[in-house]
Amino acid sequence: MSGFDRVIVVDWSASKAPSPKVPSADAIWIAVQAGGQTTCTYHRTRADAIGTLCAEFDAAILAGQRVLAGFDFPFGYPAGFASAVTGISDPLALWADLATRIKDADDNANNRFEVAGDLNRLFPGVGPFWGCPAAIADDVLPAKGSTRHGHGMIERRKIETLIASAQPCWKLYTTGSVGSQALLGIARLQGLRERYGATLSVAPFQAPDTPIVLAEVYPSLLAAEIAARQGVDEIKDRAQVRLTAQALASVPGKQLDVMLREGDTEEGWILGVDHEDTLRVSLERAPVPPLKNDCFALPPGVHWTPVDKALAELRQRLGPVVGSETVPVNMALNRVLAADVIAPRAHPPLPNTAVDGYGFAGGKAEGVHDMPVIAAQMAAGRTPDFEVPSGSAVRILTGAALPGGVDTVILQEDVQRTGDRLSFHGPIKAGANTRAAGEDVEAGACVVSAGRRLTPADLALLSAVGVGTISVRAPLRVGVLSTGDELVAPGSDAGPGQIYDANRPMLLGLIDRLGHVGVDLGHVNDDRAALLGRFDDAAARVDVIVTSGGASAGDEDHVSALLNASGHMALWRIAIKPGRPLALGMWQGVPVFGLPGNPVAAMVCTLVFAAPALAQMAGAGWSAPQGFDVPAGFEKRKKAGRREFLRARMRNGRVEVFQSEGSGRISGLSWAEGLVELPDEALHVRPGDPVRFIPWSGFGV
Ligand code: AMP
Ligand code: MG
Repeated sequence: MSGFDRVIVVDWSASKAPSPKVPSADAIWIAVQAGGQTTCTYHRTRADAIGTLCAEFDAAILAGQRVLAGFDFPFGYPAGFASAVTGISDPLALWADLATRIKDADDNANNRFEVAGDLNRLFPGVGPFWGCPAAIADDVLPAKGSTRHGHGMIERRKIETLIASAQPCWKLYTTGSVGSQALLGIARLQGLRERYGATLSVAPFQAPDTPIVLAEVYPSLLAAEIAARQGVDEIKDRAQVRLTAQALASVPGKQLDVMLREGDTEEGWILGVDHEDTLRVSLERAPVPPLKNDCFALPPGVHWTPVDKALAELRQRLGPVVGSETVPVNMALNRVLAADVIAPRAHPPLPNTAVDGYGFAGGKAEGVHDMPVIAAQMAAGRTPDFEVPSGSAVRILTGAALPGGVDTVILQEDVQRTGDRLSFHGPIKAGANTRAAGEDVEAGACVVSAGRRLTPADLALLSAVGVGTISVRAPLRVGVLSTGDELVAPGSDAGPGQIYDANRPMLLGLIDRLGHVGVDLGHVNDDRAALLGRFDDAAARVDVIVTSGGASAGDEDHVSALLNASGHMALWRIAIKPGRPLALGMWQGVPVFGLPGNPVAAMVCTLVFAAPALAQMAGAGWSAPQGFDVPAGFEKRKKAGRREFLRARMRNGRVEVFQSEGSGRISGLSWAEGLVELPDEALHVRPGDPVRFIPWSGFGV
């Protein structure tokens, strides 16, 4: 546990007017992480944000709690600035000085450019502050950094030399306007220092032993991890504060304490630099926010939802529900990548030869060529530690790095070697039979993106660029439950009115093929209490529950009845055949997919709705089925108003459909090799007309 009860992260803003009413980027976002929950709020003005922080601090002090509050702007300036302004090198004396200069009204109107100009006047030459709208630029505060000279200040703090992407604090305008954020931010934080006195300290200028500790943070330290976890429609700034707060809150208390004491006590420091791995691991430990209980609610009055609308709704409402873990690349087949992977090394790392042959410099014109061969030989794996003299050749073997003086290779089969001489016919192009360094992958390039379900080829690529371990999503555990009094287990004796449970093995098989971990939840009778017990048990063990049967609105439809009674369910009446209503609900924070009982409808609804939804929840992103337009080998008329899926297979270049559309015909499912998807409109398909065929593999199974 962290030594802090609350962790707050603030994305600051130097805006000169209130930010838009509708939550937006580049405004102030505050994340408060406490008791395993993260709350994110949007603030239109700095005054409003400070009000919220004071409320948080007051509540914490009252409850005897400790708070860490991180801000994404520099707390200090390059060494020498504080003493040039105040006469002493204490950065907090500079804070007090800046607070007397800055005027920052409740509506964000402020005098930061004037203050920067006044500060510049304390220095010889021009600068160090720069950047402002062209209309107010002058000799004192230039619009361009390049017009500054002779001010004597260092450009970057030490910490900013370690983080190339960090902007220097002298720059007041455009990209990040870090300088303006610091002037306005420090003045506001000085206000907090005055208000909270000895209960508040500022890291790393002061020992972090107080109930409230302020520190400088930089969410981009975890850029890839944050991008991988950003919600579907979440504003980036919100994701940054939310996830940075979660990461910091999960760092063990002792380690966080060490981190807060590190860094330069004059210039300030960014919390967590050089501890990025710790932060990453902490973020993996942080719980994934659960789906909202109302995530399946439907707008009232909607009767038959078109398939595309239903899919768009699901896509928008669902997000990843699994955390992540680090695994070696060779254990990662079929796992879902949790964060983009950047190539640490180029592939190939050095220029090398694609063939066995002889290497030399430059192309050769038409005609016969004759040259000496040096005694050395280059084979794969050897470091190219010698030079081949101009006009000479070297024996070189496939994959070997090109030694100095070699940029062209001739195939061994195309030369005549006699003793230490080589002869061959031109022409040969300069660079022939060689591969350039990085021609496949450049170092620093993103090789595999977050959300990818890793293939054998991906493992090859990751290995080739030198990646040993990666962050992957925890597997999605999908529980499968059959419901209905009529069901008995295959292989047991069945009474005359009973049928064998066919859906469970089918659904577990589909889930396995989709790359998730199927959990067999067995069978329950049409009995509300038994079903409730099974749901409770399942919610503790799985990430998603898939049921079949009992999902309509009839007397014996206990799945929908129970979910309804729990308060979080919607019956999605979707215009699809085969299919009955889908009961989508939440049970103790776990999403429940209530599929129809008919095996054909259950399978079609799984492929069409559950497969992309499960992919989304597994962190693999939405997966649209991949189909092909092929000539029909059948005739069929359909009415307008619903999407139809027919059991189908390809034979002799045409797609044929199963003789019966009866939704109880399991034999047709087994016969089929995919589905034909007919559009919502009325249609008369004649043999030879193009229709959309989606093979099972197009659904990912
Ligand atoms: P329901 O959705 O419960 O009304 O069931 C519709 C039809 O599907 C009924 O004929 C059920 O007997 C049948 N059914 C329900 N569950 C299964 C199952 N697990 N295996 C085979 N058929 C089932
Ligand atoms: Mg039933």
